[in-house]
Amino acid sequence: MKLLEYEAKALLSLSKIPVPASQIIDSSSTIITVPLPFVLKSQVPIGGRGKAGGIMIINTPPEAQPALDKLFHFPIKGFTPKTLLVEEAIHIDREFYISLFVDRSSQSIQLMAHKNGGIEVEENTEAGYLRITLAESAETRAINFDAIGQQLANHFDLQSHAFSLQDLVQNLYTCFVTNDALLLEINPIILTVEGLLIAGDCKMTLDDAAAFRHEWKFEEEPIESNFVTLDPDGTVATIANGAGLAMATVDAVNDHGLKAANFLDIGGGANTQTLLLAFRRLAQYPKVEAIVINIFAGITKSDEVAKAIIAAKEQIEALPPLFIRIAGTNYEEAATLLSVANIPLLSSLEDALVAVKRGSHHE
Ligand code: GDP
Ligand code: MN
Repeated sequence: MKLLEYEAKALLSLSKIPVPASQIIDSSSTIITVPLPFVLKSQVPIGGRGKAGGIMIINTPPEAQPALDKLFHFPIKGFTPKTLLVEEAIHIDREFYISLFVDRSSQSIQLMAHKNGGIEVEENTEAGYLRITLAESAETRAINFDAIGQQLANHFDLQSHAFSLQDLVQNLYTCFVTNDALLLEINPIILTVEGLLIAGDCKMTLDDAAAFRHEWKFEEEPIESNFVTLDPDGTVATIANGAGLAMATVDAVNDHGLKAANFLDIGGGANTQTLLLAFRRLAQYPKVEAIVINIFAGITKSDEVAKAIIAAKEQIEALPPLFIRIAGTNYEEAATLLSVANIPLLSSLEDALVAVKRGSHHE
């Protein structure tokens, strides 16, 4: 399970890792208690928000309302936030990168660090990373955080902060282990002008298999329960509504000699937001060449599905070609919306699958 920034920072804070003073708001909140200047941060489960325009620094009162109006309606790579994090603005001197993650091949927790953090980390070269295995030594049965703090201080060129780096890594490790994390990334870890180290951002993924020992309550991705990966190397992704129709769709894909990547029942309460999430997930399968959408609209409205399809085409890069069959409630409205957007509809699942096969033969 992937946490939102504010959820991850709450866990950091419980493990005594400094985070900026903050408040979490939704679109009905009326009062911001964080004093100016503050930063508004879109709470979407994806990185690169800064570059996309999802982080705004507010210096004066009149800037606040327009920024709030913008961010609550501003999709980032297909995600529109339900909540915003309001944080005290930090005076940044330097930005570093630190992450902890489970490395399955060596069965250990690894630490990676880079002296350049922030939004340009993609430009860091592999060689610039310090990588340390956080393993207990055989003699002391303890991790030598003292030495690791020193190593980090050297790597960051921050000799005066060896002790605070030691504390930081020790607390990050505790946070990682007590929460059964798979990934904990702080980018940036900020050195403030005042000389303090503070977590400017946090990405955290928890191990779903450990859920039974926690009482997790996070803003969850709503499609989870009706979504099953069948074959990560499948070439055809499917979206349908209702478990029966979703199964029939998967079977039909396979009967046509194609390989279904997943089962997805979007259910009756599907809206543009949940559908966009679904498209995002499907676009991540490496070998998918087609997405087959098979909707028999009842409680789900065809036009709602059509709007999500249009939004997905606009917002998701490298979305595989769509093969769409829709029938039922509000079909006419959906057909109009899609035809205006130049997205073709097929009259049956059979036609859709024939078109998929024809499409893949051309390649
Ligand atoms: P990301 O783009 O999704 O990784 O979002 P981050 O939370 O990492 O923010 C991106 C960048 O915004 C950071 O690297 C900072 O440079 C900048 N930023 C975030 N918060 C503050 C702040 O309080 N003050 C200042 N000056 N910059 C900030
Ligand atoms: Mn970041």
